[in-house]
Amino acid sequence: MSRRIERLRGLMRGEKLDGLLVGHPANVRYLCGYTGSNGLMLVTLRDCWFYTDFRYQEQIKTEVKGCRKRVLVRDLVSHPPPEWARPFRRLGVEENHVTLGRFKQFRKRFPRGRLVPTRDLTLELRRTKEPVEAELIARAQRVTDRAFNDVLKLVKPGVRERDLALEIEFQFRRQGEVAFDSIVASGENAAKPHAGFSDRRLRKGDALTFDIGCRVRGYCSDMTRTVFVGKAPAELRRVYEIVSEAQRRALTTIRPGTTAKAADAAAREYITEQGYGKRFGHSLGHGVGIEVHELPALAAGSNETLAPGDVVTVEPGIYLPGIGGVRIEDMVLVTKTGYRNFTRSGKDLLEL
Ligand code: ZN
Ligand code: ZN
Repeated sequence: MSRRIERLRGLMRGEKLDGLLVGHPANVRYLCGYTGSNGLMLVTLRDCWFYTDFRYQEQIKTEVKGCRKRVLVRDLVSHPPPEWARPFRRLGVEENHVTLGRFKQFRKRFPRGRLVPTRDLTLELRRTKEPVEAELIARAQRVTDRAFNDVLKLVKPGVRERDLALEIEFQFRRQGEVAFDSIVASGENAAKPHAGFSDRRLRKGDALTFDIGCRVRGYCSDMTRTVFVGKAPAELRRVYEIVSEAQRRALTTIRPGTTAKAADAAAREYITEQGYGKRFGHSLGHGVGIEVHELPALAAGSNETLAPGDVVTVEPGIYLPGIGGVRIEDMVLVTKTGYRNFTRSGKDLLEL
């Protein structure tokens, strides 16, 4: 943990910050291990403080590492601890995570332009996974593969999307928690990339998309598979083969030095050649870690370049309004020479 704080200080120096307030839960967890809700860190170039309230005072004794800890009785801004009286020249606040209301309160405490809205430096650090983090992500994916494999046995006409989602989430809860709202989308719902799940009952010929992930010891997985209820209709079968080939092409680009643009283009150009370019309206993928969406973004508009330690999804899709859709998503770790695919679930077209 203290090594992570040391790396954060390196970025702070680059921004000429002599202090940084970190309150976004994923960032706090990464830097000091805290898993509760109300937590705030003040990181200076030499020291680090952690603040919370009475509810967490037992938990932080073992959980929080590398910081001095303060359990606050009153509001931090109206009754600040002594270290807040230091003459900070540039104190950063996470501009993507602090509400305008809180920012106004902070500003009363640190006047004259010394409070500096700052980009998410901790998120940038979190991008490069340490081996122990990569293993936790692999573990979360194993749980996901197993849940998916088991739920396939329940797929048949008449079953509700909701019941399939529940079975998956039940398994996730056994091992950890649900990382994001599960998507179990059948028939015309499968044409909506972020459908969720509904009371709709499966029908013969439906495309059925599962986009699911769990969180194990703080780290997420993310996987999508589309299967068919009974025989796949001709156009969806063709779409499946196109998405499958697009995903395969994109995966072959994954290695250090590949730009996010190039990875995205590998899938997009193929889908466009096949006549479905307008039906692939989202980006190729995203980083995964403590949060389901992290850096780097694998998108046409991204300026990132892949590097060892990145964990990214590769998830092209084609969506036909009113008919259905197909998406295939794997999650991979970028290694020194290529990638390691954490996703074990098969990708051959399945007619259940
Ligand atoms: Zn997903
Ligand atoms: Zn995803």
